[in-house]
Amino acid sequence: MNAPNTLLSLDQALEQLKGFAQPYLQAQSFSTFEVDNRVLRQDVVAALSVPSHNNSAMDGYALRVEDVQSPGVVLKVSQRIPAGQVGSALGVGEAARIFTGAPVPFGANAVVMQEDCEFRPPHEVVIKKVPKEGQSIRFVGEDIVQGATILRAGTLLTPAQLGMAASLGCAHLLVSRKPKVALFSTGDELIMPGDVAPSDLELGKIYNSNRFFLKALLIRAGCDVQDLGNLADSFDQTRDALREAASHHDLILTSGGVSVGEEDHIKACVKELGELHQWALAIKPGKPFAYGRLRKQSAASAQDYTHFIGLPGNPVSSYVTFLLLVMPFLQYLQGATNRVYRHIPMRANFDWLKADRRREFLRVRINEQGSLDLFPNQSSGVLTSVVWADGVVDNAAGQTIRIGETVNFIPLAGFLRD
Ligand code: AMP
Ligand code: MG
Repeated sequence: MNAPNTLLSLDQALEQLKGFAQPYLQAQSFSTFEVDNRVLRQDVVAALSVPSHNNSAMDGYALRVEDVQSPGVVLKVSQRIPAGQVGSALGVGEAARIFTGAPVPFGANAVVMQEDCEFRPPHEVVIKKVPKEGQSIRFVGEDIVQGATILRAGTLLTPAQLGMAASLGCAHLLVSRKPKVALFSTGDELIMPGDVAPSDLELGKIYNSNRFFLKALLIRAGCDVQDLGNLADSFDQTRDALREAASHHDLILTSGGVSVGEEDHIKACVKELGELHQWALAIKPGKPFAYGRLRKQSAASAQDYTHFIGLPGNPVSSYVTFLLLVMPFLQYLQGATNRVYRHIPMRANFDWLKADRRREFLRVRINEQGSLDLFPNQSSGVLTSVVWADGVVDNAAGQTIRIGETVNFIPLAGFLRD
């Protein structure tokens, strides 16, 4: 635990998690089809230029601009070049019927799109517009130059990057294996939806919500998730369940039970099974947070452990700390170097006059005018604020906000990929 009364900043916590994440999960080679949302563990260097040959950007006629000094010139159509075929050299006064993607024949230095031409059967074409040199030609290396490093190790792969790798001839890519994550919620008050009808819910009981969004978030984060259910507020049950899960997973994620009450058993169990770093974070929502390591039962070496993260139980705190800390940790584990999230400067359409000593993440929504409305209830128990929000305003400690001021907006979706 950090010293009493000193709260750990989010940046310090992320820095520590980055260190704890090493060594990274193993890298494996997979088909380029399979690796969306995985972290690349090799550089991808272009083995060829893209395009690899000058080719037509249009369906039309390839010609020599010297032959068309004025509109209405008639050229002889000497050949037809569909995509995937190679034409022959173009002579003076000749045009080639050409299609998008087909190699531009030797001698041609422009393509005129077919809308600006009139074909006269059997072998002539009228060029109605005077072309410029290079017009409608995609030149060798225009996109990528052979030998350039196109993707770097540590990149969290997107669909566009898969297409890029494929365009360079990469059928396989070296990526991290998926993190295997065990998920537990904790608390005697929690009831599974479906087990008890809302009308029969006893006083003091609530439905388990964290288990649902945390599982979904982990799946979106590209993990193999095993939902291991809810732990009663009992030391023995918690210890046994954590010990068992530690043998099979890279990370054990829990929610609830990490505050200071005597019903909070998670911390004591983690201490008994390994080591615990309990942090009071200088963020709101989300103050209590725990990182630890659990020894694997079959541990052959000190390195043989499973990561543990304990999130706060309040749903909003749990959700926000997942985005701010677990999401990056999962990426660090896979060797990612992407930045954690991107700030977008936007105009606040609200006053926030009670500055907090912690850095705050206020739930906001983009309105029709393109500025940000604030959800009226920012309490950490009100999940409606997250459902309603498009994102959060990252508000520095001690900072007030007045209507019209520029604030740092982070879209919720941006946490899941950036
Ligand atoms: P705790 O950290 O266990 O004291 O929980 C803090 C608050 O979050 C309490 O009001 C709990 O009832 C609530 N809570 C904890 N876990 C969940 C969960 N899985 N779903 C919904 N609420 C929860
Ligand atoms: Mg609890």
